[in-house]
Amino acid sequence: MILGIDVGGTNTDVVLMADGDFEVGTFRTSEILADFSGFIEKYWPDVSVVGIGIAAWIKLTPDGFQLINAPNLPEIPGLTLSKPFVVDNDANCFAYFASKTLGYSDLLGVTVGTGIGGGVVAEGKVYRGCGAAGEIGHTYVGGEKVCVCGGKGHLEAYFGGWAIENVEKKIKSGEIYECEGFKLFCVSLANAVMLLNPEAVVIGGRIGGRLDSSLIWENVGKWVHSAIDVEIHTLRDDYAVAKGAAMLARDTILRSQS
Ligand SMILES: [Zn+2]
Repeated sequence: MILGIDVGGTNTDVVLMADGDFEVGTFRTSEILADFSGFIEKYWPDVSVVGIGIAAWIKLTPDGFQLINAPNLPEIPGLTLSKPFVVDNDANCFAYFASKTLGYSDLLGVTVGTGIGGGVVAEGKVYRGCGAAGEIGHTYVGGEKVCVCGGKGHLEAYFGGWAIENVEKKIKSGEIYECEGFKLFCVSLANAVMLLNPEAVVIGGRIGGRLDSSLIWENVGKWVHSAIDVEIHTLRDDYAVAKGAAMLARDTILRSQS
């Protein structure tokens, strides 16, 4: 059995992967991070490996990994476990899940929730660069608005849960598509499409998963060259990150052992 965990700013989602089936549960992040290892040993002593998706930028080091920035978490946690485990950025886990589920080997995954995350899958593998590849939320779109990461004029400062007031209402009424932030979001996606030339862009997260993919394409298509083919999808699955983390643990740890 494989455990997949999505450590978010407020809630932590957990899935159990056994014969392709998932059992799910949600916990408070503050309680879990207080004793991470104890939490897993207490509830799931029998899992063989653990995959952790976390809202942080991660740098791979010769002896493991280092969390280098986590603007949406209360603190940068220390993650240690007695079982084999992998840790990856939450949007990377989302992109990996989308790639496996929808069958694209070259894909850009973008999550829009409280913040905006991005993950790249290239030739079926997560592309990390030096650690923070794909962080579309922290690319510059203009202006001086201060971002949670400390930068200025980043996409995340104009679009997403903390940047747009009454975002739920605006999604329901369709008003979100009139926001300046939505235009900037689509410009950023178009730039990323030209940079990466993926087969698909898959958008998820609490807000992103509820957007209209045809309206996104209507805008993105204005700035992408007509010779470029790309599909735009939205994916609504609250456990996508946890499932992707479990899949990464399966494909990196278990396959390397067999
Ligand atoms: Zn930023």
